[in-house]
Amino acid sequence: MSAPSDASRPYGGPGNFVRELIEGEIAAGKHSGPVVTRFPPEPNGYLHLGHARPITLNFEMAREFGGRCHLRFDDTNPLSEDVEYVDAILADVRWLGFDWGEHLYFASDHFERLYGWAEELIGKGLAFVCDLSSDEMPLYQGSLNEPGRPSPYRDRSREENLDLFRRMRAGEFEPGARTLRAKIDMASPVLVLRDPVLYRIVKASHHRTGDRWCVYPMYDFAHPLSDAIEGVTHSLCSSEFVDHRPLYDWTVENCSVPSRPRQTEFGRLNLTYTVMSKRLLKRLVEEGHVRGWDDPRMPTLSAIRRRGVPPAAIRNFNRDVGLTKRDITIELPRLEHAVREELNRTAPRVMAVLNPLRVVIENLPEGERLDFEAVNNPEDPGAGTRTVPFSRVLYIERDDFLEDPPKKYFRLAPGREVRLRYACLVTCTGVVKDASGKITELRCTWDPATRGGNAPDGRKVASTLHWVSATHAIPAEVRLYETLFRVEDPMAEAEAKGIDLASFLNPNSERVRRECWVEPSLRDAQPGSAFQFERLGYFAVDPESKPGALVFNRTVTLRDEWAKLQKRSAK
Ligand code: ATP
Ligand code: MG
Repeated sequence: MSAPSDASRPYGGPGNFVRELIEGEIAAGKHSGPVVTRFPPEPNGYLHLGHARPITLNFEMAREFGGRCHLRFDDTNPLSEDVEYVDAILADVRWLGFDWGEHLYFASDHFERLYGWAEELIGKGLAFVCDLSSDEMPLYQGSLNEPGRPSPYRDRSREENLDLFRRMRAGEFEPGARTLRAKIDMASPVLVLRDPVLYRIVKASHHRTGDRWCVYPMYDFAHPLSDAIEGVTHSLCSSEFVDHRPLYDWTVENCSVPSRPRQTEFGRLNLTYTVMSKRLLKRLVEEGHVRGWDDPRMPTLSAIRRRGVPPAAIRNFNRDVGLTKRDITIELPRLEHAVREELNRTAPRVMAVLNPLRVVIENLPEGERLDFEAVNNPEDPGAGTRTVPFSRVLYIERDDFLEDPPKKYFRLAPGREVRLRYACLVTCTGVVKDASGKITELRCTWDPATRGGNAPDGRKVASTLHWVSATHAIPAEVRLYETLFRVEDPMAEAEAKGIDLASFLNPNSERVRRECWVEPSLRDAQPGSAFQFERLGYFAVDPESKPGALVFNRTVTLRDEWAKLQKRSAK
């Protein structure tokens, strides 16, 4: 395989504000040690295309500045997390091309130290055990315009708090009965500083710590402290955490942590025609709208891998879109453009017929085989050539023939000559139909003087068709994909109209064609390999595929809608 096209491309070009921030700090002499970042997924679902932004950002910034990037699981909620998700996330990040080396962490590995800091806060009078239920608590929280009211349990003594918190840990109380809360300021204009919950009681088995714990830290407590334990310097997270930053800072200031990480936020990346939230994607799986998390219609990394998207395309897409402070929604054609660009360089060209029409070459005797040389990839001379067999009975695409063609139709028609790619020129001499009038076969003649595809007398034909030899071709199943939803912003429409999200699913998102034919060079094509089916698009071998029962997924078509959109906006 050729080297990744993206090996030396910088992330987000010159306008990357995280790079500017770090460069500024280095210039100001603020860095004595390395730049340390982390990607912190919660293992409660599969990673999606939105996650590719923080993954590429964190790993590439660390690499650019000669530092390191950790992979840390934020596994603080045993009710929704699972080892299945941990394994999938590891595979996905590795597939995207990033390596955390020995720096794989789990927030749960830090539970004992986090608990210690919670006791430290109690000792400092900065945390208390609260008996308000989750229904009662909001009644004390106030609003943006109104200060909150202190919890009636706020003034418990340190000794009582410590005793109750230890008994919470020991499992004496039921979930919901008590929480540990920070004691900050119920009148703060910053809502997260109004005595936020730091620990809750959860009685469920954790995928790593089993039944050892029945108190679990909240994200806002576990996250900054895990960063501090690991020596993370730049805690990069998406925009919904801007409002939480004061609590992040409060936590690292008030616990005796070994380092002082800082949080910087970037905008979330969304795509049209899909949804990008683990919660919603999980629903699609559980309700059976798709076959699983890796169904090729899903926006998950495992799904796009299965569909044939190369990881370099995702890296390049993120670099080109760059980093924004605000949330952005990118048009799906822009992603497809990046996919096509990469596959155009790397995917071998082959011929496949998805909707076959039989063609008999009348002047080629039965049993005779001609071998023609075909170019594997015009974009990559090193890819070489292969032989494609040609014989008396061929298949072409049904819509490459019209009996009564309109003016602008240049493909095959009665009496007309066209080129069969890499092979020769053929002329249609007859049409065979069944009783219902459906065309079942074309009769053609070939011109032996045009071997390879060009006429020695220089005569031109208006079109070139792909084809396969019926005796040599291999049957295949081909799955054609379109967008999962039929509207650009399914979630917004569902909310605006009060209709279920599922009603915006695209009924044509998957169409399966079972009677397709591919050229014999694909006989042993391995799952994961990607090809350009000439004139049809890019296709990848599905993991369900076996020799003799090939299955292909359409990755993208050849139509570049993004180029069109750009031209239109340039006008
Ligand atoms: P979801 O909303 O899909 O459940 P999440 O944010 O809860 O996603 P996490 O596992 O917590 O998922 O995410 C890990 C990291 O990925 C977080 O730092 C989060 O900020 C970031 N992230 C998640 N989705 C996106 C997105 N669409 N764009 C940019 N960053 C994202
Ligand atoms: Mg989250």
